[in-house]
Amino acid sequence: MIRTIASTARIATKIIKDGSNSGRDKYCQKLEDKLYNRLKKYKRTQFDYIGKNVHEILPTKLIQVEKLPETFENCNGVVSLAQEVEKTVPADIVGYIVGYIVGFNKDGKKKQFGGVKMEVLMHEMHHLFNYLTHPKVPNRIYKVSKISSKINFEKFFVENFQSTMPPKKCKEATKKLLKREEKHKIDILQYFRYKLIDEIGAYRSGEHYSNLYSSKSKECFQSNIDAMQLETKLNDVTAILKKTLKTEREGVNQKRGKSIISKGRYFISHLSDLLKINHKN
Ligand SMILES: [Zn+2]
Repeated sequence: MIRTIASTARIATKIIKDGSNSGRDKYCQKLEDKLYNRLKKYKRTQFDYIGKNVHEILPTKLIQVEKLPETFENCNGVVSLAQEVEKTVPADIVGYIVGYIVGFNKDGKKKQFGGVKMEVLMHEMHHLFNYLTHPKVPNRIYKVSKISSKINFEKFFVENFQSTMPPKKCKEATKKLLKREEKHKIDILQYFRYKLIDEIGAYRSGEHYSNLYSSKSKECFQSNIDAMQLETKLNDVTAILKKTLKTEREGVNQKRGKSIISKGRYFISHLSDLLKINHKN
């Protein structure tokens, strides 16, 4: 099996121990707590200090924390996959995604946490730790990024899901998109589903730790979840996915049935050849 996630970009199940979704979630939260407890005492921590602490918690992982370039001025933070082409991957690293790049934008406002607002910091850290503990998420992101299409799926996600676009409109747009991308519909639906779960988790973490840090910062991120109606959108995507999988399965079973019949026909014709029976006579 070809792995798409190198050991430097995931935490092995034997370390997580409980490989179920909830076990992985718990491990992810443990990492978030660890980092928060290390950084909460500093009012201002520079990017390299965030990086230093992440590396101390996860010494064998390839993670780079840096300031986002100017072109990202409208973005608070982002976690990108660090990819390596197959040929240049060292022998001990089997995979394509070798690590992650966490980028932050400096916030000029007063209540800062290490140059980055607490909710932004822990929001992005949730993405990072979620990818490390749930490798199926970056794996799906990678897979969908390799689909050759005129559509930019990430842009579609941000504009339709991670926005105030009403769920009904989002659902219609998604169905339209799936019609255009019939071949990849399951991968795309899984991608949206994982991204929604990841984003809801990230907003929750941002809210949780910023409330711990300062009770004055109100639950702004919960209101983001509500404003974007992320949970309704998640339910919609899950329902479409379930229906699609069911239809696909029924299609496969039908095909299987047909192939058994055609195999039977082949056998009969083959047998008739052996018996030298010529039906035309
Ligand atoms: Zn996010």
